[in-house]
Amino acid sequence: MEQWLVGVDLGGTTVKLAFVNMYGEIICKWEIPTDKSEQGKHITTHIAKAIDEKLRELDESKERLIGIGIGAPGPVNMATGDIYEAVNLGWKNFPLKDRLEMETGLPVVVDNDANIAAIGEMWKGAGDGAKNLILVTLGTGVGGGVIVNGQIVHGTNGAGGEIGHITSIPEGGASCNCGKTGCLETIASATGIARIATERLQRTDEPSSLRDVWKQVGAVTAKDVFDAAKENDTLALQIVDEVTFHLGLALAHLANGLNPEKIVIGGGVSKAGSMLAQAVARHFKRFAFPRVAEAADIVIATLGNDAGVIGGAWLVKTNMM
Ligand SMILES: [Zn+2]
Repeated sequence: MEQWLVGVDLGGTTVKLAFVNMYGEIICKWEIPTDKSEQGKHITTHIAKAIDEKLRELDESKERLIGIGIGAPGPVNMATGDIYEAVNLGWKNFPLKDRLEMETGLPVVVDNDANIAAIGEMWKGAGDGAKNLILVTLGTGVGGGVIVNGQIVHGTNGAGGEIGHITSIPEGGASCNCGKTGCLETIASATGIARIATERLQRTDEPSSLRDVWKQVGAVTAKDVFDAAKENDTLALQIVDEVTFHLGLALAHLANGLNPEKIVIGGGVSKAGSMLAQAVARHFKRFAFPRVAEAADIVIATLGNDAGVIGGAWLVKTNMM
């Protein structure tokens, strides 16, 4: 009987689940809403139920499953599988590994959500097997995962890979959710890009197709900025240049310390595609040590929403077999 790995990507609004085979191919994937009521205490029960129900639906027994690899949105205590804090879920020192093992009767490996996405891209996505890889995800925030010699860098207390909080504007930058100011996240997230665009529109009366969107809808999004830039809108091109300058600079700093083979850009903003990758690469090359720049390939993530569940499956494969 072929055995399956269970990958779970736990987010603030949905829990993504998948049964994955040993080759990293998804057998079946689905999602359930994240129940954040009562400080998220029902989440593990719902995951266990979702797995049981899916097995029943497929007419399969639990013997098929080797274990669960789960990514959670917060720093992880790697020794215990506890989540130090997941603000989105209402968790503080939550014993995720213990609870989920109890509920499912399966062994569980826990890691951070951005880290498992990085592992997923390494195994089956844009990483293309590269063992030294940096993933940066540009979504509502900026997340990241760093892989060195095929291993996730967790750091001393679970905060390794927090690329979004590299300081890009040392003085006078925008406030970040982490409590600092001027973090990369305040610039290169979808939220940050929209903020920069809005400020620019307010400050100048430069003609731009973004101004029309802004007047009609009352707001501009990161997607609007990239769409306008693709049409050679001057203001939009300036904003893209500013954002990718900071991304390229931060990634060059990081890469100078790590000498990665692949730098993968994921998250919703990465839908901007090759225009984004090329602009980041142009700035990156200016700031990276020449030998580092030569080795590093800057690419767009290919797995989309599946990166997390595939990375979770990899954790099971490498930790439980
Ligand atoms: Zn921050």
